[in-house]
Amino acid sequence: MRVIVLGAGVVGVASAYRLIREGHEVVVIDRGPGAGLETSFANGGQISASHAEPWANPAVLLKVLHWLGRSDAPLVFRWARWDPALWLWLGRFLRNCTPARTRRNIERTMRVALYSRTMLKALRAETGIAYDHRTSGILHVYRDPRAFSQACAAAETMRVYGLERVVCSVAACLTLEPALEAIAPQLTGGLHSPDDETGDAHLFTVHLAELARAAGTDFRFGVTVRGLETEGGRIVRAVTDHGPMTGDLYVLALGSDSPRIVRTVGLRLPIYPAKGYSLTVDTTGFAGAPMVSITDDEYKMVYARLGDRLRVAGTAELAGWDLTPTPLRAEALLKRARVLFPDGGDYDHAVFWAGLRPTTPDSVPIIGPTPWPNLLLNTGHGTLGWTMAAGSACIMADLAANRPPAIALEGLGWERF
Ligand SMILES: Cc1cc2nc3c(=O)[nH]c(=O)nc-3n(C[C@H](O)[C@H](O)[C@H](O)COP(=O)(O)OP(=O)(O)OC[C@H]3O[C@@H](n4cnc5c(N)ncnc54)[C@H](O)[C@@H]3O)c2cc1C
Repeated sequence: MRVIVLGAGVVGVASAYRLIREGHEVVVIDRGPGAGLETSFANGGQISASHAEPWANPAVLLKVLHWLGRSDAPLVFRWARWDPALWLWLGRFLRNCTPARTRRNIERTMRVALYSRTMLKALRAETGIAYDHRTSGILHVYRDPRAFSQACAAAETMRVYGLERVVCSVAACLTLEPALEAIAPQLTGGLHSPDDETGDAHLFTVHLAELARAAGTDFRFGVTVRGLETEGGRIVRAVTDHGPMTGDLYVLALGSDSPRIVRTVGLRLPIYPAKGYSLTVDTTGFAGAPMVSITDDEYKMVYARLGDRLRVAGTAELAGWDLTPTPLRAEALLKRARVLFPDGGDYDHAVFWAGLRPTTPDSVPIIGPTPWPNLLLNTGHGTLGWTMAAGSACIMADLAANRPPAIALEGLGWERF
């Protein structure tokens, strides 16, 4: 079967790799000059099933009020924008803030994230792919006692679904990661997820694309998809600026651009971009960079050691598709990193980046079939696209082969909206 994969981010490339390994003819289309150059380029680096708690949860509204006016607020809505897509998205987001929906969304996210973590390990064993990865887990640290006790309750829910999270005293946090010493007096405790991992999503995407190409995948870079066309109840072509591309099956993995493209065949996906920032510093000659990946709950910032670099990422701005960074927010990230890990790296030469997370209102990705029998969706992975890419790709291969996927797809499809 000839499969057209739309998008060469981490999700599209992982899908292409799985599909070519199954013996299909695979063509990947991307507007960029190479693989993984948009949201998969410089993300937080965490393979974090432990981040399965959705943004929409009962505590978020109070938190947003508390953050109002702060330049380093983890989540910012640009209220002034008149953007119907944003308001519609926010309405759905609010509906997902109940305790019952939060629990349901945790289960759905964990289902994909845990499966994906296992599939990533298997892929590593199968290919030997290297991407500055570490397998020393992720440690979430808390300052506010109330936030810590809420997180312990959420961890209990996650444990029920199969994620091991160890409650740590401040002393235990310091034993795991001595570089936390500078802020130890402010900490209340931590939660360690020993099986979570880290790695450079861009390196992974580039190396996996090389493996996929060696196996016969045809990558068409510099090609922009404008839409899809149907005939007789099936997708018959992808319309691009280089002419039509035809296949038997189409896998849509266009990140934040996915809703615009599927709208051409009448499908509405509530994916809205949440702009996030990262900075990367060289750790050579600096003794205070963490070895264990850290999530600083109060500022919703993540820290990952990638070889001899430290990646720091965080913040979310719901402000449309514009990628222009807000200097104040990038600076806030740098300021926080300097406080947490004063000797963590060469902050004076930090490299800044911004990307658009393809975010759904319930924080659950959109994976699975559509009303068109030859169009599959693999998109909307939001804050966890790197975590979920390997597993989502296996689901695409299963569906392409008409096999039941290894995990249930209930609650993951577009029809839940
Ligand atoms: C600051 C930040 C930190 C993050 N940290 C983490 C983390 O620690 N762990 C984690 O799991 N996730 C993290 N994420 C989320 C993760 O990076 C994303 O979910 C993931 O990269 C999405 O991958 P994707 O392949 O779906 O999208 P993308 O990487 O955006 O890929 C989509 C591709 O489609 C192409 N494309 C789009 N439109 C068109 C078109 N019309 N025609 C042709 N090509 C097109 C683009 O060029 C792009 O290559 C973070 C994100 C941000 C912004």
